[in-house]
Amino acid sequence: MTGLFYHPACLLHDNGPGHPECPNRLKVIHEHLEKSDLLRKVQRFEPQPADLETLAFVHPRDYIESIERHCAAAGNGRVRLDADTSVCKDSFAAARLAVGAAVEAVGKVSRGELRNAFCAVRPPGHHAERDTAMGFCLFNNVAIAAEWLIRQKRAEPILIIDWDVHHGNGIQHIFYERGEVFYLSLHQWPLYPGTGRADETGEGKGKGATLNIPLPPATPEQKYLDIFFKTTEEIFKNFKPEFVLISAGFDAHRDDPLANLMLTEAGFSKMTDWVAELAKDYCGGRLMSILEGGYNLTALAGSAAAHTEILSKSE
Ligand SMILES: [Zn+2]
Repeated sequence: MTGLFYHPACLLHDNGPGHPECPNRLKVIHEHLEKSDLLRKVQRFEPQPADLETLAFVHPRDYIESIERHCAAAGNGRVRLDADTSVCKDSFAAARLAVGAAVEAVGKVSRGELRNAFCAVRPPGHHAERDTAMGFCLFNNVAIAAEWLIRQKRAEPILIIDWDVHHGNGIQHIFYERGEVFYLSLHQWPLYPGTGRADETGEGKGKGATLNIPLPPATPEQKYLDIFFKTTEEIFKNFKPEFVLISAGFDAHRDDPLANLMLTEAGFSKMTDWVAELAKDYCGGRLMSILEGGYNLTALAGSAAAHTEILSKSE
């Protein structure tokens, strides 16, 4: 069974009027899943908020407290944390729920209670550095989930596949010198945040456990998919992950307003199917996917539904 983790309080995080990372993103995903009858094919969960100890797997205490403080200070307005990341009074709670979803989802998958899981949550996480909020991200949801799996001795090594159109600088930096997490990112280049060059491949024990594939704008979908299939297969073969995490942004979609790659709903279906099959071959199908970006609401809803449908069919 596939788990779907969603909490309505994730809608309350608000970056401000006209901001692309808006509550409607989750609303349209939920509505689309409902309309396409997918909600009946998955097991639904409302996550608990992650506790501070869990957040501290990745983030320093004073950083966590600073986010809480900024949210408390926001009153009925917002506090701006960087050029494009703001918090309101409900953002801390929403961010803890997003992390809570990621950790509960990997917990249930690692215990065999679920086959795989998709977390439809916000704020997203892959740009969040240990001590810096950036790029619409407060806490690094997927990195905390990976840390949880390692510390609880549920799985090691772990593969993180980041197909968001932007490079996940936060994930890369958190695991850059660590050998037990492989970070793969395919992203448009050049584009925000400016990291993710092909020669960034990890250091020390992490040497060779980071792989960046920068792609020029307008790369044809089939070319992207060919690279994706070949690369992921090689990583599974060589790295033999025990658990797969997907930073599932859908902003590499051809209709996305923030970038210029050419993927379609069908492309996201094929990528999901491919990774689910590899996960089946190498790690008993253990896979947790979590929403990152995706800013054209129609494309986002369709792509997230296509992704969830393939996960739910994975035996
Ligand atoms: Zn993105």
